[in-house]
Amino acid sequence: MRGCVYADNAATSATDECALEAMLPYLKYEYANPSSVYSFSSRSAEAVDRARKTISRCINCLPEEIYFTSGGTEGDNTAVKCAAVTGKSIITSPTEHKAVLNSCRAMERNGFSVYYTDVRPDGTVDAAGYSELLKNNPGLVSVMTANNETGTIQDIAELSSRAHAAGALFHTDAVQACGHIPVDVKKLGADLLSASAHKFNGPKGVGFLYVKKGTPLTPLIDGGGQENGLRGGTLNVAGIAGMAAALENNCLCLQKNAEYISSLEKRFFDGLCSLGVGFVRNGGGLPGLLSISFHGRDSEALLHRLDLMGIAVSSGAACDSRQTQISHVLAVMKVPAEYAQGTLRFSFGKYNTPEDIDKILSSLGKILTDTE
Ligand code: PLP
Repeated sequence: MRGCVYADNAATSATDECALEAMLPYLKYEYANPSSVYSFSSRSAEAVDRARKTISRCINCLPEEIYFTSGGTEGDNTAVKCAAVTGKSIITSPTEHKAVLNSCRAMERNGFSVYYTDVRPDGTVDAAGYSELLKNNPGLVSVMTANNETGTIQDIAELSSRAHAAGALFHTDAVQACGHIPVDVKKLGADLLSASAHKFNGPKGVGFLYVKKGTPLTPLIDGGGQENGLRGGTLNVAGIAGMAAALENNCLCLQKNAEYISSLEKRFFDGLCSLGVGFVRNGGGLPGLLSISFHGRDSEALLHRLDLMGIAVSSGAACDSRQTQISHVLAVMKVPAEYAQGTLRFSFGKYNTPEDIDKILSSLGKILTDTE
């Protein structure tokens, strides 16, 4: 971001050049509706087909198992509201994104029983409690791959295999994981998986939902029969082409990017330790995502002062950042209030530099020692 040190990549990420290039023809000349029957539309339809194949290779599934959506929120809503089985319960974790939690609340209003797992202090699902919950006749379990506030990574392969043994379908919100850590739907054992392009250097307003062949699902959005009748609406051809290019680009460099971003994370963490201020780190696991709670501080005040110094970070989840109460994720991880209130989320990406880290550290140092 011009003139600013951007360390909020979990909120959204810069659009890759290759994604822009992939999109431009479909914004400029190849604007035909891919569902039309004349030959002008065939190039748009081919772009959508190509993108479906590219994405399916990246997550190890069949092209026809990819359904295009408007992003992570829609994918999560579809999975929770349309894969839940009447007469059976839903199990989820209390650290999920609001797209899942509020979908579960909506299902509760519709008469579904929803059970919430316990979590350990690092944010991972408590295994013993999970086994107990699975006795409640679940039809669907939804647990995220990586948490957007803390970076905590769940053992999805283990959770999904236990859900299947209990007769339930398994959905994972992989919005923060996809394009950053290996996401292989077969290894994860997911029946449904949601992802969003703008979190992996693609455009905003487009994403995909993986639906394992044979998984019963009703449409969330009824319309003209697009996406095999599962998701109505004219396809966002440019966005879909851009998303596939961005995901392929990130997946080709997954290891290299993760190592580089982890080196930035280490530089930041070591620098923070040497500032000599009281803090704790919550969770962790996803490369470059650090949830740091500063003792006795107010996150909004810290955020504002960093902003004035040209540094963009978040006080929690991007979509929640305007609310002042303690994050639901930190609350269930039992982070003490005097720490939780002073929490900042730093999320570094492949375009950050060591100089960015040093600038954040020196600015933080000034702010924290100013008033301490
Ligand atoms: N799920 C997670 C874990 C997220 O971090 C986000 C966005 O912050 C979403 C879902 C929603 O995705 P989108 O912004 O594409 O609707």
